[in-house]
Amino acid sequence: GDAITVADLAQKLALKGGDVVKALFKMGVMATITQSIDHDTAVLVTEELGHTAVRETANDAESELLAHVEDVQGEQSQRPPVVTIMGHVDHGKTSLLDYIRRTRIATGEAGGITQHIGAYHVETPKGVISFLDTPGHAAFTSMRARGAKITDIVVLVVAADDGVMPQTVEAIQHARSAKVPLIVAINKIDKSEADPSRVKNELLTHEVVSEEFGGDTQMVELSAKTGLGVDDLLDAISLQAEVLELKAVAEGRASGTVIESSLDKGRGPVATVLVQQGQLNKGDFLVCGVEYGRVRALFDETGSQVQSAGPSIPVQVLGLSGVPDAGDDFVVVDDERLAKEVAQQREAKRRELRLVQAAGNRMEDIMAQM
Ligand code: GDP
Ligand code: MG
Repeated sequence: GDAITVADLAQKLALKGGDVVKALFKMGVMATITQSIDHDTAVLVTEELGHTAVRETANDAESELLAHVEDVQGEQSQRPPVVTIMGHVDHGKTSLLDYIRRTRIATGEAGGITQHIGAYHVETPKGVISFLDTPGHAAFTSMRARGAKITDIVVLVVAADDGVMPQTVEAIQHARSAKVPLIVAINKIDKSEADPSRVKNELLTHEVVSEEFGGDTQMVELSAKTGLGVDDLLDAISLQAEVLELKAVAEGRASGTVIESSLDKGRGPVATVLVQQGQLNKGDFLVCGVEYGRVRALFDETGSQVQSAGPSIPVQVLGLSGVPDAGDDFVVVDDERLAKEVAQQREAKRRELRLVQAAGNRMEDIMAQM
């Protein structure tokens, strides 16, 4: 009962039957649109076509996992906004993130070891804000391409002495296609050449209209060097977050997304994850991409051990079987068996996909020679 006709699959994917036939052919599967293909082939071609396959059958580990996520019930409560800072090179993204980190995160730990992790959260008088320190636009797009929706608000940094530049426009387009609202940080206003109104006018031509011009985009003038105006930016973020009414279930099994990961000589695989639902606790079993494990320790952005982390809070996780990829999802499960089973199934599927792609490549070579 797992088979599906090419035509039906094409319809589900909102594609032409011929396109699915072509994609199948590239994978080395000959089928006409009226023929049926098996479940696994359907999943593979769906992913090959850039879509995410969601199983409708409910009898394998993956759907048991899905049930785990859907099973998290309870009162939705307000959660902090997750912010990504984007903008043209040298306009001050790193300076702004560093200024906020430096002035807002107490490094009171003995030894004061503040390792650099790819995300942090700060407390402001108007609430908590989480910042993702993704290295540039590429990370943002690759995470989105993988279906990870993690950013609530984009802060677009534009240097007031330089104005709108190519990567500024690129960032506007990214935010737009991700349907994430923008807040513009007009930076470097301490410089004598700074011309904030020029920036606002240039942004107008890209349909980013400031509130003072009757639009709906908050624009804040600031200096990441002196700190002038940075509090206004934090206020603007909190205001935007209120409008968005961001909510999540704050209790129960956690799930979320990997922000970055690495292999540490002493500590083994280390993943910085963003919790998006539930509470992640020390001792939890989880599956994370094709990896799994039991949380051996959790660390916050100051390097201090924490016992748990809730929605919108980034945290470093130790105890995984291997290094997951940025953009991978993680889900807490009740026992190690399920975690291991899902991880192994995914690994097998990934291997299969690679084999199929290799076969497809060979097929293309053969076709090229025909
Ligand atoms: P990024 O490429 O967007 O991350 O930009 P950086 O944060 O690395 O900043 C590029 C350069 O601009 C550095 O030399 C910073 O010191 C400088 N810079 C950043 N913000 C300001 C600012 O508000 N005022 C001044 N005068 N210089 C700044
Ligand atoms: Mg930088």
